[in-house]
Amino acid sequence: MTETFKNFIAGDWVAPTTGAYFENRNPADWDDVIGCFPRSGPEDVALAVASAQRGFATWSRTPAPIRGEVLHRVGDLLVQRKEEIARAMTREMGKVLAETRGDVQEGIDTAHYAHTEGRRLFGRTVPSELRNKWAMSFRRPIGAAGLITPFNFPLAIPTWKMFPALLCGNAVLFKPAEDVPLTAHLLVEILLAAGLPPEVVQLVHGEGSVVGRAMVEHPEVPLISFTGSTETGSIIGTTCGRMHKRLSLEMGGKNAMLVMDDADLDLALDGALWGAFGTTGQRCTATSRLIVHERVHDRFVQMVCDRAQRLRLGPGLDDQTEVGPLINEDARTKVERYIGVGRAEGARVLIGGERPPDKRLERGWFYRPTVLGGVRPGMRVEQEEIFGPVLSVIKVGSLDEAIRVNNDVKYGLSSSLYSRDVNAAFRAMTDLDTGITYVNAPTIGAEAHLPFGGVKQTGNGHREGGWEVYDFYSETKVVYVDFSGKLQRAQIDTEV
Ligand code: ADP
Repeated sequence: MTETFKNFIAGDWVAPTTGAYFENRNPADWDDVIGCFPRSGPEDVALAVASAQRGFATWSRTPAPIRGEVLHRVGDLLVQRKEEIARAMTREMGKVLAETRGDVQEGIDTAHYAHTEGRRLFGRTVPSELRNKWAMSFRRPIGAAGLITPFNFPLAIPTWKMFPALLCGNAVLFKPAEDVPLTAHLLVEILLAAGLPPEVVQLVHGEGSVVGRAMVEHPEVPLISFTGSTETGSIIGTTCGRMHKRLSLEMGGKNAMLVMDDADLDLALDGALWGAFGTTGQRCTATSRLIVHERVHDRFVQMVCDRAQRLRLGPGLDDQTEVGPLINEDARTKVERYIGVGRAEGARVLIGGERPPDKRLERGWFYRPTVLGGVRPGMRVEQEEIFGPVLSVIKVGSLDEAIRVNNDVKYGLSSSLYSRDVNAAFRAMTDLDTGITYVNAPTIGAEAHLPFGGVKQTGNGHREGGWEVYDFYSETKVVYVDFSGKLQRAQIDTEV
């Protein structure tokens, strides 16, 4: 029998007021129904917001080191349940077990980092320009934080948002992607088991255009953190702008790996395969462009194609599998559409470009790893995010040209350079227009304790992860204490 799951609102697991549900199916085998999850409505969001405000009233007054202790226990519970969560995650979104284990590990790292931040959350004390006066700043929590997350990192991305939000003293409203509601359910279970006061977290399942939208438009949700497509981010940005809300956006990428003529090609090969086809290319940091120096172009592209051909497709739960399915039918249709666009623009399909012929894989959203050769700057397959196992190869004549091609897209999340030349490395670090640059490593591989995010249309200037995200989830308050016993006028009574 199919299990029916609930929302978590006002301290309880509850059915949606709509009475409606949607099915969650395994993308590697669509006959495998994982469960039914609430198709909630704006009413459920309203109840969740009212509860989050009650939760906020007490949690915001709980000392930060104590909030940190709760997150430490969350991290420990994630350690205990790592394998179970990784398996559930692979079943619901398809990526291979090694990767879902990594996804949980990122949540563990984020929890343990948040724990230690509970004993920091620094403010500043600085000299006042006036005698007998103190000047200082400290951080205040903000309120109910609306967190809207995508399918590709079902645990890690929610924790990137939720743990710092909680550590800073906010309550959270969590709207996970429709394709990964089970992982979200398990995460909330763990928060509660760790002793988080129940009204501090609310989980509302459902469609983005209904539940996500209601959250963004609710006047009592003062901050929104979103990771997902640029289209949705723009809609959310418009509403938040109109309503003067604090907003963090993390959106698309068109990340490139630059391979110069002095690169260690075997090393670059491993990086290209992992960057392009890990998570079936469905990472915002995935390597979707390979910019190769003409002197090594033909040889290197041949090496990539030889290995990519042999990558084993299959269900992520199978030990032999190296590449899992795409998330759903729309995602595969989008990839197929882009292969058509690429062909029409004059790109050549060097390998892949089709569904696997294997009968075993017929009931999943599989697509063969694909390499497009002869791609020129400006083509749509060179400019637009495909979010699938498709690598576009561009030939260049120099590092300068490679940097120019890298930068000539509207996105700016991640980039990578393979070269043995220290001068080239520093040029790339300085001039590649992205939030993250890797040297001799692929475009993926962010660590939880460093800021993560992109420039240009990838984001709106905020960062997730590391120390910077704590600025997003707290408001700076400045306090002046004048103990001179008289009126002192700033900028006026400032004699030496
Ligand atoms: P992706 O293509 O990565 O799935 P989406 O932008 O479609 O990206 O979805 C990311 C998250 O945004 C999901 O949780 C989705 O339900 C939510 N979402 C989609 N549309 C809206 C919207 N109009 N308002 C708020 N959230 C939305």
